Amino acid sequence: MNDVLTQVHEGLERTLARLKRALAQPSIAAQNLGMAEMAELLTGELRSVGFSVESVPTQGAPVLLARLEGRRPDYLLFYNHYDVQPPEPVELWTSPPFEPTVREGKLYARGVADNKGAIFARLAAVESYLRARGRLPVGIAWVIEGEEEIGSVHLHQFVEARAELLRHALGCLWEAGGRNATDRYEIALGCKGILYVELRVRGAARDLHSAMAAIVPNPAWRLAWALENLKGPDERVQLPGFYESVRPPTPAQRALLAAWDYPEDEVRQLYGIPAFLEGLTGPALKERLLFGPTCNICGFHSGYGGPGSKTVLPAEAVAKLDFRLVPDQAPEEIVKALRAHLDAQGFTDVEIAWWEGERPFAGDPERPFVQKAVRAAERVYSHKPTVLPLMAGTGPVHLLCGQFGVPIVTAGVGYADSRAHAPDENIRLADFVQGIEYVAAVLDELEQG
Ligand SMILES: [Zn+2]
Repeated sequence: MNDVLTQVHEGLERTLARLKRALAQPSIAAQNLGMAEMAELLTGELRSVGFSVESVPTQGAPVLLARLEGRRPDYLLFYNHYDVQPPEPVELWTSPPFEPTVREGKLYARGVADNKGAIFARLAAVESYLRARGRLPVGIAWVIEGEEEIGSVHLHQFVEARAELLRHALGCLWEAGGRNATDRYEIALGCKGILYVELRVRGAARDLHSAMAAIVPNPAWRLAWALENLKGPDERVQLPGFYESVRPPTPAQRALLAAWDYPEDEVRQLYGIPAFLEGLTGPALKERLLFGPTCNICGFHSGYGGPGSKTVLPAEAVAKLDFRLVPDQAPEEIVKALRAHLDAQGFTDVEIAWWEGERPFAGDPERPFVQKAVRAAERVYSHKPTVLPLMAGTGPVHLLCGQFGVPIVTAGVGYADSRAHAPDENIRLADFVQGIEYVAAVLDELEQG
């Protein structure tokens, strides 16, 4: 593969200049800032490498769909996003978030790890491959959405419009990932799903003097009692049927868990906790982290929480909850079970104000595409990568690939201290270069069919 690597290294300075240009362009979906400009910049970059680019409209930010033919008719999917998280709090950045800056071998800017670095690593890999060999082994259909950081709210519209294209892909290079806390390269094959709900209880028409608590119901109590009915101190979620569709890991997935050197002591120290939930450790901890569904209270708001006292009877109480879901739990089923359970326990007054969800997907390490991706990592990183059947977080993997049976592997340029979503987001330049080489190596693995 030296022919391709030579091109990677000869083009490196130019690649970095292009990446920095993209990093200097804010594209904050949550604030609808710079989205069209970023889509235009990327379209130009993709076309300059030979992609045909289409802007597929949705009711939100358009999805860019870039296509390039290969020697064979089959094709890979690439999935990325051109939006970034808001940079706030800006005062905590060492250099301004949209002025990409190199310090001590690291490139700092909002979006560099999540995930503009990965976009330009892929672009450079494809360009270098074409320069060295004149054509790719297989085609590429590159999906770059603009709403990942706000929950991919309209991606389903793209998926409905292009289902046939997605269905026949041989595999997908997903966004995110890179090196883990032990500096090993890490590949994930799926992700957990999610159900996010806002629960609301209304009491009196307005906040009242707390003397009225003697005769007027308090919505904060109602909500607290309702929450108590969702999960017990034994950590079991009490919705009837919650665990019914949970599928245990396959033997191949269990083998991945066993090989995973999860740094539990370091994580415990980093988080400042004396022990994990229920004293979990070893294989049981790893299985729970990846294959255990959750019911988590994200926030609980009611009445007065400021300094000093205020004797108030609140008019409303709100709780935000997320349930991280595992195969084959479906958010639309869990939300139905939640409503039925609240009603059955006498909490018809607890409204589900709104909800949203994504389905989970766990990958199969025995799929040929996954095995090629793992081999490519061994070649580039000179060690066996950690392969996880799914990540503990959530993304639209099921929506874009999982529902069609298309295997995914994450391919990112981050590391444990990349600070995605936080001030001083950064990547190490050495990881960026290996990220380019990795994508080139995946393409090279596909030469053999
Ligand atoms: Zn993100």
